[in-house]
Amino acid sequence: MTYVVTDNCIRCKYTDCVEVCPVDCFYEGENMLVIHPDECIDCGVCEPECPAEAIKPDTEPDMETWVEFNRKFSEAWPNLTTRRDHPEDAEKFDGMEGKLETHFSEAPGEGD
Ligand code: SF4
Ligand code: SF4
Repeated sequence: MTYVVTDNCIRCKYTDCVEVCPVDCFYEGENMLVIHPDECIDCGVCEPECPAEAIKPDTEPDMETWVEFNRKFSEAWPNLTTRRDHPEDAEKFDGMEGKLETHFSEAPGEGD
């Protein structure tokens, strides 16, 4: 199994998760992070750190699409291992419906 980042990360991107990951398997897009499913060791420590509750185990229902989504973009985006300041308007986007359609960007983030 693996943990994956889902759509509530979009435009939230608090990055609390990357600090705790023992294998540094988070990758940064312009507006969200993803986890590389083959690098994640399923330790679960990132899940409770995410204030947006965007991190889920792939054992939850209907996660196949998110596993493939995380795989695709983790291979395209740069690695992020240290916390950075979140966008000032992050709170406004927490819990917003339909962000994948309206606010997702395939562009890579800066990484570190
Ligand atoms: S803590 Fe959650 S919302 Fe923030 S970057 Fe990590 S997965 Fe995304
Ligand atoms: S479950 Fe563990 S290894 Fe996987 S992304 Fe979270 S902190 Fe990293």
